[in-house]
Amino acid sequence: MRLGSLKHSTSESKWQPICSLPVPVHVAKLKLPASLRLRDVLRVGVRAYATAPSTESHTVPSGAGVNFELSDEQREYQQLARKFAREEIIPVAPHHDRTGEYPWDVIKKAWELGLINMHIPAEQGGLNLGIMDTCLVTEELAYACTGIQTAIEANSLGQMPVILAGNKAQKDKFLGRMMEEPLMCAYCVTEPVAGSDVAGIKTKAVKKGNEYVINGQKMWITNGGVANWYFVLARTSDDPKMSAGKAFTGFVVERDTPGITPGRKEMNMGQRASDTRGITFEDVVVPAENVLGAEGMGFKIAMGAFDKTRPPVAAGATGLAQRALDEATKYSMERKTMGKLICEHQMVAQILADMAIGVESSRLATYRSAWEIDQGRRNTYYASIAKALAGDWANKCATDAVQIFGGNGFNQDYPVEKLMRDAKIYQIYEGTAQIQRVIISRELLNRAMGK
Ligand SMILES: Cc1cc2nc3c(=O)[nH]c(=O)nc-3n(C[C@H](O)[C@H](O)[C@H](O)COP(=O)(O)OP(=O)(O)OC[C@H]3O[C@@H](n4cnc5c(N)ncnc54)[C@H](O)[C@@H]3O)c2cc1C
Repeated sequence: MRLGSLKHSTSESKWQPICSLPVPVHVAKLKLPASLRLRDVLRVGVRAYATAPSTESHTVPSGAGVNFELSDEQREYQQLARKFAREEIIPVAPHHDRTGEYPWDVIKKAWELGLINMHIPAEQGGLNLGIMDTCLVTEELAYACTGIQTAIEANSLGQMPVILAGNKAQKDKFLGRMMEEPLMCAYCVTEPVAGSDVAGIKTKAVKKGNEYVINGQKMWITNGGVANWYFVLARTSDDPKMSAGKAFTGFVVERDTPGITPGRKEMNMGQRASDTRGITFEDVVVPAENVLGAEGMGFKIAMGAFDKTRPPVAAGATGLAQRALDEATKYSMERKTMGKLICEHQMVAQILADMAIGVESSRLATYRSAWEIDQGRRNTYYASIAKALAGDWANKCATDAVQIFGGNGFNQDYPVEKLMRDAKIYQIYEGTAQIQRVIISRELLNRAMGK
């Protein structure tokens, strides 16, 4: 059901998508016009790698106990995203990887379909979907190109502080406009001097009357050059002893405010479709009405967003790992050495099996972390486990896919070198692999100590 591999061709791009696995007829017939949106998609098929649901009645009511069945709506979201990824992203992904051009066309189409901004509340015109729903869509988009998926996901990261802590006027103003036209936003926390050490950021906001004046330098901001507005975390306390939980404030800042200067687009190892920049804030005047929550609440708001955004980041890593597995499987069934297909060599088959273990366990951890937060429970522990596990497996699967492709894997005419370059960032952004383990160990030790 998934799109098959990309194979070498003599065309200009040398990348040629081929469909090796069938898509259900009713999905293939789906058109992707502007009128077809996530909220009104047709009933479509079943998950990849799952057999069709049993027609016999369940002995346990659906939803009771452990249940791996997606709802009808979730299958629809997944299928629409899969079709969109196959038809609209895979063909253009090599171009955006090569040129670094921002994928506006793809984003506009995704916006038309409702595959972006999925969790904006209904009151602001959004779909108000859960994190699990977002994960299903994100995995499909990432399967096609994680650079484009990251550009889309950065909107969720920028919006989340507003969703969590914004008042109605702020939500209407900043989220509402994103439902009216395809706009991007960005989450500005990291600085040249501090990434993991969020409490070490130096950007300052000083209150003057009914306004704040922001000065500082942000770094590595996804969507930094294309955002319509920014979530900005700045220090509002002069007291160096003030706890992080009280020393910082979160602001929504309009991109066109005087004093904001995005830097050049960074030339990154992978995910080159995504726009990453430093941003300078020089005497940027922001009205006090743009403070999220209250002065001093910024750190909690900024960190709280991760509980909802790390599951989709893990889903993105899972999508990449699945793509690596699919590409490697297909290649191993075509390439022959010593008179047999390489998949018939036990050591190659074992690599594929290990990759499958990684993909499936990453997906399960992702679903668990999404499900926990959708139940309204604190999911910090699960979100970090999912992000760490899926990030590591994405890297292992991409590296193993290159190995299975042999020399071809090292070459740009084949798809897996891009996967290997794209995978690395999953161990760095939204908390590095080490920081996830700091969080996991803190959570489990707190539990062990009865806190
Ligand atoms: C492409 C890209 C996109 C990004 N997008 C955004 C964005 O949209 N918004 C945003 O705010 N930021 C963004 N970031 C920043 C990203 O979140 C940080 O790069 C990341 O958190 C790591 O911070 P750092 O780069 O300062 O590394 P450092 O914090 O300096 O870490 C360096 C190394 O030390 C390790 N380390 C640090 N502290 C500890 C510790 N306590 N225990 C164990 N190991 C530790 C780290 O794991 C890492 O291996 C992005 C980064 C990149 C590269």
